[in-house]
Amino acid sequence: MKRIYLDYAATTPTHPEVVKAMLPYFTDAFGNPSSIHSYGQESKGAIEEARVKVADLIGARDEEIVFTSGGTEADNFAIKSVAYANEIKGDHIITSSIEHHAVMETCKFLERRGFRVTYLPVDEYGLVDPNDVKKAITGKTILISVMQASNEVGTVEPIAEIGRIAKEAGIYFHTDAVQAVGHIPVDVNELGVDLLSMSAHKLYGPKGVGALYIRKGTKLIPFMHGGEQERRRRASTENIPGIVGFGKAVELAQQEISEEAERLAYLRDQLIKGLLERIDHTRLNGHPIMRLPNNVNVSVDFVEGESMLLNLDLEGICASTGSACSSASLEPSHVLLALGLAHEQAHGSLRFSLGKWSTDEEIERVLDVLPGIVAKLRAMSPLLKSHR
Ligand code: PLP
Repeated sequence: MKRIYLDYAATTPTHPEVVKAMLPYFTDAFGNPSSIHSYGQESKGAIEEARVKVADLIGARDEEIVFTSGGTEADNFAIKSVAYANEIKGDHIITSSIEHHAVMETCKFLERRGFRVTYLPVDEYGLVDPNDVKKAITGKTILISVMQASNEVGTVEPIAEIGRIAKEAGIYFHTDAVQAVGHIPVDVNELGVDLLSMSAHKLYGPKGVGALYIRKGTKLIPFMHGGEQERRRRASTENIPGIVGFGKAVELAQQEISEEAERLAYLRDQLIKGLLERIDHTRLNGHPIMRLPNNVNVSVDFVEGESMLLNLDLEGICASTGSACSSASLEPSHVLLALGLAHEQAHGSLRFSLGKWSTDEEIERVLDVLPGIVAKLRAMSPLLKSHR
């Protein structure tokens, strides 16, 4: 059976051209970039080339990019390093209630260390209201962190508006753009952000590499102490193949971003329309328009998301019930609850995330298969019986 992968938000396959670009850096070009001999300089050159590409994609200067081990590290780096470097000035952080665990858990960690955190609510579509950000600011606020786009429901937040508010108040502004970079336009100056997290494996790059954009002049302490790599902001010998792969992935994304976004948005809308038409008691989660071009998240009443997922998997269709990290837990998604969904609705959610190799035929196959699965599950559902 040919499998259909519709979980690109969890991770993307590494693009063959990315793999090709990475390979020499495992074998012939293996030097440590800190070495002054030619092997070292070859690796150093490769990092700097990738840095220019990543900086270019988001309108940054190359010296403002620090490579990390992924999006989680970039989020931890941004939040902890700014918090600890600025604790004399204040102890208050503002974030949203729909952040990825990488931001959420970092904020909770800091709360346990004496910082105060405001978790802003979102509306029914998952949007943060910039006025709420404004109202939450106190004389002690040192950082605002609001994600650019939700990994679960795909809602794209009003980052530029929040950026203006942060700038006016003189407060550092971080955005987790892991799901946005390479999929929708991201420009650090248009967004008005001081820090921005990225991850290569969400845009057809390899896993285990990402980056943090740090605006020049941002006061923060190094995240890892050790050698002098990454201008002393992040010690450890660089992941050269990973960084080169990230650079190549960014280069490919830049060439195709608008065309691909349009193609995916069309497929996304076909899937949303089909699901809502063919399965009753189904609703779209997230914003209908301000949404990532590749995200479809629906709640199907009277059925469990996990049951739908397993049945889809038996048909060769790979989707998700929420973010990859939370799907191992039985707790409903904090994001869906923040949107106001009841626990049962949150438990009946499915996320399809589309990508480079998604086709019309694949969407049609989901629309052919899922209504039957839902009907079968509903026929034996205690949830439906209690509703009747
Ligand atoms: N932030 C968001 C919004 C994500 O979707 C993810 C990955 O799912 C991460 C952060 C973590 O990125 P990584 O897997 O590179 O650590």
